[in-house]
Amino acid sequence: MIAKGERLNFDKRIFDATQESIQVWDRNGKKLFCNDKASKLYGIEDDKIKTIQDVLDKWSFFDENNSSLDLEMLPAFKVLHTRQAMKETVLKMVSTDDTKWIKTSVGPILNNEKQIEYIVTTCLDITQEKNRELKYKNIANHDSLTKLPNRLLLSDRLEYAVAHATRNNTHMALCMIDLDGFKALNDTYGHKAGDTLLIEVSKRMLEVVRSDDTVARLGGDEFVVILGDLEKIDDCTVSLYRLLNTISAPYMIEGNSIDTISASIGVNTYPQDKVDPETLLKHADVAMYKSKNSGKNKFTFFDTASDKKIKANYKALNKIKKSLEDNNFILHYQPKLNSITGEIVEVEALARWRHPMLGIMQPTEFLPLIQNDNELNEMFDSWVIHEAICQLVQWQNMGLFIKICINISPKQFKQKKFVQKIKDEFVKNNISLEYLSHIEFEILESDVVDDLNRSNRIIKECKELGLSFALDDFGTGYSSLVHLKELSIDAIKIDNSFVANMLENSEDMAIVQAIVALASAFDIRVSAEGAENIEQVLSLMEMGCDEVQGFAIAKPMPANELVSYITNLTPDPRWRLASHTLPSRIDFELLLAESNHKYWVEMIISELSKSTPNLSLVHIDHKGCRFGKWFEKNRSKNYKITPSFKDLDTAHQEIHKLSHTLLETIPKENRTITQEEIAKFYHLSAKLIEILDKIRVEVEKQKKQQSVVNKILQKREQYGK
Ligand code: C2E
Ligand code: MG
Ligand code: MG
Repeated sequence: MIAKGERLNFDKRIFDATQESIQVWDRNGKKLFCNDKASKLYGIEDDKIKTIQDVLDKWSFFDENNSSLDLEMLPAFKVLHTRQAMKETVLKMVSTDDTKWIKTSVGPILNNEKQIEYIVTTCLDITQEKNRELKYKNIANHDSLTKLPNRLLLSDRLEYAVAHATRNNTHMALCMIDLDGFKALNDTYGHKAGDTLLIEVSKRMLEVVRSDDTVARLGGDEFVVILGDLEKIDDCTVSLYRLLNTISAPYMIEGNSIDTISASIGVNTYPQDKVDPETLLKHADVAMYKSKNSGKNKFTFFDTASDKKIKANYKALNKIKKSLEDNNFILHYQPKLNSITGEIVEVEALARWRHPMLGIMQPTEFLPLIQNDNELNEMFDSWVIHEAICQLVQWQNMGLFIKICINISPKQFKQKKFVQKIKDEFVKNNISLEYLSHIEFEILESDVVDDLNRSNRIIKECKELGLSFALDDFGTGYSSLVHLKELSIDAIKIDNSFVANMLENSEDMAIVQAIVALASAFDIRVSAEGAENIEQVLSLMEMGCDEVQGFAIAKPMPANELVSYITNLTPDPRWRLASHTLPSRIDFELLLAESNHKYWVEMIISELSKSTPNLSLVHIDHKGCRFGKWFEKNRSKNYKITPSFKDLDTAHQEIHKLSHTLLETIPKENRTITQEEIAKFYHLSAKLIEILDKIRVEVEKQKKQQSVVNKILQKREQYGK
C-alpha cells in the first residue's frame, strides 16, 4: 500500500510493457499515472491527460446493450462510492471518429482510515474480438437477403416493445404483413426477381415507419412491423395506410413494371390484447388472414371480443365432447299419433344434454355449437344413431313394436360413407338388418334441396336397405313441387310454425291444407308436429294428416317412461273418436264442430276480458266462425235428417247475437266482461253442445235402424225376394 503523501516512484517501463492500459487516479479524478497503452487507448498524449475529465471530454461510454452511461454509472465512479473492486466490465467507447470496446477492471486503494486514496483502472482493448462477435451476431439476428431483423431478433424487440408500453403507459401495434401477388410474381419472373422485390419492399417499409419502429422479415413474403410508443391505438393507422400505399405502388424489376403487389396486414395491439408476445404474434396472424380472405390490400385489427367468444365456444365444445364420453347425453322420445289407427306406432328421438351444472338442456342450446365442429358433429350423430338403434332392439325384445324416427344432420347425411356407416353400426352391435325397416330418418327440407341429386342418391341407397325418410320442418325450406317429385322420400312433416297459428291465421291454415293435398297427390305420408291443443289435433286429423305429434298428445319423454305411457295410454276421448275404433267419421265431424265452437267461445271471452280487445280476431257473424262455415257449407248435410238439427241453427245464432251485443256495449262502456255475462255465454254454449249430443244419439239410432233395414234387405236378396 502506498502511504499517504508518498510519491509514485517507479520505473514506468515496467507498466508500459503490459498488454493492458493502466491508469491511476486520485479520489478527485486527478491523474497520477497512465502507461503508454492508456494514452494510446484514449488517443490522448500522456501529458494532455491531467484529469479523468480529459478522457470523458473525448469519449462517451455505453454498456453492452448500447445504453449510454452517465458519469456515476462508470465503473471508476461506482468504485469511488462503493469502495468495492469491479472486475472485467465490458464497455463501448465512442468518440467523434472512433468506436472501441474495452474490458475494464477497477480497484480502490485505501488509506489507513479505509478512505479511498487512489483508483487503479486497467483496460484491455477488445475491439477486434467484439467486432467479430457482433458480426456473427448480426448474421444470426438478421435476414441475409433484406438485412432486416429476423425472427430471433424480432422476439427480443417484441419483448422490449411490450415492456416499454407497460412501463410508459403507451400502446404498441404489432403488424403481420403478408404480400399479395408475390407467388405469382415469383412463378412468372423467377426467384431472382422475387428477391429483388423483397429487398425493395423492405426498403420502402423502412422509409415509412419511424426510426424507433422495427421492420422484420419472418421468411418468404412475411414481414412484421412493430409500431411502438403510441399514445392511442388510432395513432398507428397513418403508418398502416403508408405501409399499404408504399407496398402497393408499382415496382420496376428487371425492366418490368410490376403493379400486382400489395399487402394483407393483420394488426394486434398491446395492452388491449394482454397476452404474451408469442400469442400477440399469433393473433396478428389471425387478423392478417382476415385481410387476406376479405379482399387483400387492407389491414384488419385483431378482434379480442370475437376471440374470447371463439375460446368460450372451444371450451363449450370440449365440455360437450367430454359429456358424450361420460354418457351425459340422452335421447328423449316423443310419440306420434296415427290418425287412422289411433295408436302410437312411431316415436321421434330427440337429444337432451344432462349438463352437470345447468340441468337438462334442449337441442337449440347445444346443436348449433356441435354442428359447427365437423369432428364433434360426426361423433354426436354416430352416438344418436347408436343409441336409438340399441333402444329400438330393446323395445322390440320387450314386445313393443315401434318405429324410431332419428334426426340427422346434413353433414352426416351427405357423407360419402353414410349408408355403409349405418350398416356397420348394425353389424358391430350384432343387430339384424331387418330392424332397418323400423327406422325413419328425418332430414331438414332445407338441407336436401341444395344438392338434390346427391341427396336423392343417398336416400335411394338407404331405402334399398329398408330405411325410410321424412322431410322435416316442411314448408320452411323453399322446396318446390319439382323437388317433391324427384325426391324418393316417404313422408313430409309440416313445420310446427304453421300448426301453431293455423286456427287463428287463415293463411297458415291454407298452407297446412295445401301441404296435406300435396302429400296426397304425391302419395306420401304427411305428419304434423307441434299440435299443442286438442283443437289442432282434431283439425289436423280432419284435414287428413296421417300422423300428429305435439304436446297435446305427449311431450318428449325418457325411454323408460315411454313403455308405461303406451301401455297405460288412455287417449283423449275426442281424438280417440277420430280413429277407426269409433262408430264413424260422422261422429268425428260433430266433435270437430263442437271443438271449433268451444274455441270460438273461449276466444270471445278472453278478448272481452282485456281492456282493449282485438275484435278482428273474433267472428261476430254467425256464418263467419268455423262452426258457422261448417254448418253453412252443407257439410252438415248428414245430420239434416235428424229431428234436432233445426234447433242447432237457432242455438248458434242466439249465442252470436249475445256476442254481438256484448262486443258493441262493453268497449263503449269502457269496461270488461262481467261474470254474469260469461255465465250467460257458457249457458248458451252448453245448450248448443246439448243439441250436438242429441244429434249424435239420433244419428246413431238412425244408423242402427239403417243397418237393420240393410240386414233385412240383404236377407231378402239372399232368399231371392
Ligand atoms: P324437430 O326434428 O322438428 O323436432 C321437433 C321439435 O318440436 C322438438 O324440439 C320437440 O320437442 C318440439 N315439439 C314437439 N311437440 C311440440 C309442441 O307441441 N309444441 C312445441 N312448442 N314444440 C314441440 P326439440 O327437442 O327442442 O328439438 C329441436 C330440434 O333439434 C329438432 O327439431 C331437430 O331438428 C333437432 N334435434 C333434436 N334432436 C336431435 C338429434 O338427435 N340429432 C339431430 N341432428 N338433430 C336433433
Ligand atoms: Mg325432427
Ligand atoms: Mg321439425
